[in-house]
Amino acid sequence: MSDDHAARAISCYGSGLNRTPNLDRIAQDGMRLDRCYVTNSICTPSRAAIITGTYNHVNQVTTLDTHIDNRLPNVARHLGAAGYQTAIFGKWHLGEGKAHEPAGFDEWAVLPGQGDYFDPAFIDRDGEHVVPGYATDIITDKCLDFMARRDADRPFFLMCHHKAPHRSFEPDPRHGHLYADGKLPVPETFDDDYANRAAAAGAAKMRIRRDMSYKDLGLAQPDGGDEVGELLIEGGFDRKVPEIAPGESLRLVDAASGEAFDFTDPHALSVFKYQRYMMRYLQTVQSVDDNVGRLLDYMDAEGIAQNTIVIYTSDQGFFLGEHGWFDKRFMYEESLQMPFLIRYPAGIAKGTRSDLIATNVDFAPTFLDYAGLTVPSYMQGKTMRPLLEGTAGGDWPDVAYHRYWMHKDEYHNAFAHYGVRDARYKLIYWYNDPLGQPGANPGDEPPEWELFDCDADPFELHNRADDPAFSAIFAEMLAKLDAKMAEIGDLPEHVSAEVLERLTSRAAVA
Ligand code: CA
Repeated sequence: MSDDHAARAISCYGSGLNRTPNLDRIAQDGMRLDRCYVTNSICTPSRAAIITGTYNHVNQVTTLDTHIDNRLPNVARHLGAAGYQTAIFGKWHLGEGKAHEPAGFDEWAVLPGQGDYFDPAFIDRDGEHVVPGYATDIITDKCLDFMARRDADRPFFLMCHHKAPHRSFEPDPRHGHLYADGKLPVPETFDDDYANRAAAAGAAKMRIRRDMSYKDLGLAQPDGGDEVGELLIEGGFDRKVPEIAPGESLRLVDAASGEAFDFTDPHALSVFKYQRYMMRYLQTVQSVDDNVGRLLDYMDAEGIAQNTIVIYTSDQGFFLGEHGWFDKRFMYEESLQMPFLIRYPAGIAKGTRSDLIATNVDFAPTFLDYAGLTVPSYMQGKTMRPLLEGTAGGDWPDVAYHRYWMHKDEYHNAFAHYGVRDARYKLIYWYNDPLGQPGANPGDEPPEWELFDCDADPFELHNRADDPAFSAIFAEMLAKLDAKMAEIGDLPEHVSAEVLERLTSRAAVA
């Protein structure tokens, strides 16, 4: 698993942005999922959903700052109890210290917090140690070392969790020549004006042209105050690269080479920022791809490829310039979709693809099912095995639920929301109150609904929530949302259709 890797930045997904031959090997020899969705598009909560098989209102890891209680059962514990050798290396991001560190793993060495790209520190049972080198290489080295030392007579469960390509997108210098010609395709929606969308879209501080820092873009930040750029966060050091108005000029300098770039055209500056961002992002992805190749080569050489399930995914998707954004958090498609590639020659047909819906709470039940273990009743996901084996029938659940709990964090100002997506439509409710405390922020925007026809409007530019032509669809999707929330036990902030009906009939009786 990597951190913040969008499906568009894996070549087998067909966008043409970059080349990832090793990730593509997994898809060629197995299956590519096109509708695998995250239940909360942010790092820590997604990781909690993956290891526990539960939604965040149940595992309580609703935000970046609500760390996991490691007394909870998790998938590694169940596999370990059944005789699996278990390990995790790299990004954990579910908290540190005795109450939050990895539990259920025979071996672990994880980055503190987000960790560093270069010469990162790792925490293990003996404390914290700095390891020289590049994070993606080191994490892979640790995984290879674990596999080489394993007891070959017993099965193993290994989570190789890369930090890349998470912000601040710091590539290994050996990939510095890639995607550097400034000619990557700019998404159609790059200049989105957010008209006809909920207030959240316009309010988010996730715009490439306005919200990326000098560090994000590998540019030298000049000494100075507000004239250099707005602070990324109050009291911090990093500043955002400013925009320019017509008639103004700006000189930017590459932090490594000292090369200078001069701008007088506001749009040319925006596109330059996009190209810099994407160059660095894709370069960090290239290291992930190289290192996945090392793991696959090892399995081939060991003769265990046939009977080992290999999965590549990311903790959520990411905006790569769509709607003018970087980052994630939103239920819009680019951040909702998780890449998911799986290879299991003994059980999954090669070169296959599925557009059935699965979510990250389904991962743990799937691992247990393949290991021949009972899926415990506390897990809320379902095994993906019928989907992966091509036997899923018409009764396969067609609804993915997503809830983003954080509200207006200082960096990104993203609004809290929840909703459902089925094979065609997406309904989102922006409840605009933090952590279910109505009235806590009296100045907040009023709640809003969004409804998108993802077939007719794949870029989600036309909100149909108030369109009379879509009122039947709205009612259908609202019923799916109500049913899903009731099923998983998450409490709605909106008045459900059923409650409304009851209130109306009671009023009629009275
Ligand atoms: Ca992430």
